[in-house]
Amino acid sequence: MHTSISSSLSLSPARVRALGEAGVHHTEDLLNFPPRRYLDRKNTARIANLSGKGEEITIMGHIKEVQLLSSGRKKRLEAVITDGSGTLKCVWFRGVGYFKKYLEKGDYVSIYGKVKKFGPWLSMAHPDLDKLRDPAGQLSSFGIIPVYPGNAGFKKAYINSALLQKWAGELLDEVTFEEYLPDYLRSRHKLCSRNLAYRFVHLPEHLGQAKEGRKRLKFDELFFFEMAIHVLKLRNKEKQPGLRIKAPGALTKHFFTQELPFELTEGQRNALSDIRRDLAGGHQMNRLLQGDVGSGKTIVAIGAMLMLLDNGYQAAFMAPTEILAEQHFRTLSQYFEALQIPVRLLTGKTKAAQKREIREEAANGTLSIMVGTHALIQDGVEFQQLGIAIIDEQHRFGVKQRARFQQHHAYPHILAMSATPIPRSLAMTVFGNMDISVIKGLPAGRKPIRTALRFENKREKVMAFLADSVRQGGQIYVVYPLVEESELLDLKSATDGYEQLRHRFPELHIGLLHGRMKPNEKEAIMQSFERGETDILVSTTVIEVGINVPNASVMVIEQAERFGLSQLHQLRGRIGRGSRQSYCILMADYKRSKVAIERLETMVKTNDGFEIAEADLRLRGPGDFLGTKQSGIPDFKFADILRDEDLLELAREEAQRLLTDDPKLEREEHQHLKKHLREYLRARKDFYSMM
Ligand code: ADP
Ligand code: MG
Repeated sequence: MHTSISSSLSLSPARVRALGEAGVHHTEDLLNFPPRRYLDRKNTARIANLSGKGEEITIMGHIKEVQLLSSGRKKRLEAVITDGSGTLKCVWFRGVGYFKKYLEKGDYVSIYGKVKKFGPWLSMAHPDLDKLRDPAGQLSSFGIIPVYPGNAGFKKAYINSALLQKWAGELLDEVTFEEYLPDYLRSRHKLCSRNLAYRFVHLPEHLGQAKEGRKRLKFDELFFFEMAIHVLKLRNKEKQPGLRIKAPGALTKHFFTQELPFELTEGQRNALSDIRRDLAGGHQMNRLLQGDVGSGKTIVAIGAMLMLLDNGYQAAFMAPTEILAEQHFRTLSQYFEALQIPVRLLTGKTKAAQKREIREEAANGTLSIMVGTHALIQDGVEFQQLGIAIIDEQHRFGVKQRARFQQHHAYPHILAMSATPIPRSLAMTVFGNMDISVIKGLPAGRKPIRTALRFENKREKVMAFLADSVRQGGQIYVVYPLVEESELLDLKSATDGYEQLRHRFPELHIGLLHGRMKPNEKEAIMQSFERGETDILVSTTVIEVGINVPNASVMVIEQAERFGLSQLHQLRGRIGRGSRQSYCILMADYKRSKVAIERLETMVKTNDGFEIAEADLRLRGPGDFLGTKQSGIPDFKFADILRDEDLLELAREEAQRLLTDDPKLEREEHQHLKKHLREYLRARKDFYSMM
């Protein structure tokens, strides 16, 4: 199957290169390169019916004539298209040379674009053009024409939909796919054979076939993905019995009955009981705790740590930034002081002598809880008996870093926490190997944050509002974007903003916080804000995660159009934590694109992190949404985890059922499946070894 594409088709080196850049190296890759849409000749417009009043339509027809025209230095290319009912002119002012070479009289093409009328001519400027197989040709004689994704590389190598379909057809005549799904599974879900599926996808006779073929290939992708995850889960359980923790002990009970200053929310209680069940199960816990910013994940983590401490184990708590680690350290110290449990902080800036001491205490078991940044996994820290690792804001850590934690500390229970409300289908794929608890809702008594979008012309009013808030005892965040490629520029806008505020409000205490400061400077500024000494904290996005200052009730986000939605939501989550009514003011430049403004309106409309995440995900796609650090998204060619959520669910159920019935895949009817699964895992060794 892994025949290289150049040995099965006769291709020029330029084409081999272009295909390679698109990830098509082997025969199989080409067949797994699906059309992005299909044109049904029955459903395209007829030229005779067009008015030329700007309708956007698809037409298919032959090129009757191609003509290069020039007036002065300006060149333009015109191609006359006919579909038998009439003629239409396509016009290019750019890429003239390319299209001149590419288009030939007699070519059969599809064009998509806006139709206008100029004099007697219907015309379309810069259409979205695709060369198709002539309808007289065999492959497309049924009137369904696949349109494949194109790119600049394809264009340069003159690779178009017609060619891609032709190649797919040639390959399909050569290849036979072994069927690996057991019959009962196929008939239960009406899945066609693999052979037919590929044929249907590339050479459909009608749209129903294209759909049927896709469904099968989507199912395969999702099913094997789920099978792999479940096999690995089973394997891990076998390999690692896990520390079995009995019922909560004295510390846990004391904390929750005597020390906790509030009632747990229902979501927090549910999460804690999930964790308790995991800990008692005799297997390593690997749980993701999802909860919107401010939902109170820290208390759940404290509960989990206490359960292990009660049983004589140690706990580690890892945060992505120094500021956050320090803040957690202070919170945990407060809670644990009352219980007389020692907590230490280890970050990159901890002094060598102190580090040595902390390491020693961890190794000899005197230290119960270590809080820190990823210094926890870097500095050869050894625990006497590490029982649990908490990973806060886990989306900030890469999959690899998380994995290292495990390798370092021989399978402690893992509780990862995330405030990024990842839609379920995405969570199922990216964190497929983890169990998930979701804290829904916020602690009682919180007033929903009010969000407003304001343009520059309202700045005076915003300033007056800030002055008012401070007068009433509130504190304010003013946040500037920090985009890596122009870090210096961004820093300047934060610094300028800081100076302006100081000038404007000489009587107020204004602080400035940014990523280029020394850690102890940062800490001093943060602490002053936490103690309420600073009225307004101007910062770049370093405050993004986890910071907790309940008295801060106003946040101004400058150049809000430059932030992603999820990031805005995270930022906004810094306020609305106390009893004050909180306000978030998004300052934007009204000259920016309408799209940006529309995006910001989402923020004004809702406080629901899941709703915002869905919107963000749709706008940016899963890769961008999760950030480059999360490279764990499998590369599905056919399935779309957002749109195919139901099929994903189905694949998951089937994988689970199959592995429950036949955990070692020993049954005769599962032999092909077993073989394919083995290959699947081997091909994705790097990804799965991290799970
Ligand atoms: P996050 O989930 O964003 O990490 P935190 O754990 O920092 O949230 O909690 C946010 C704030 O809410 C903290 O000040 C915490 O003490 C408070 N809090 C947590 N749980 C409750 C609760 N059940 N009732 C009232 N306040 C709570
Ligand atoms: Mg937090």
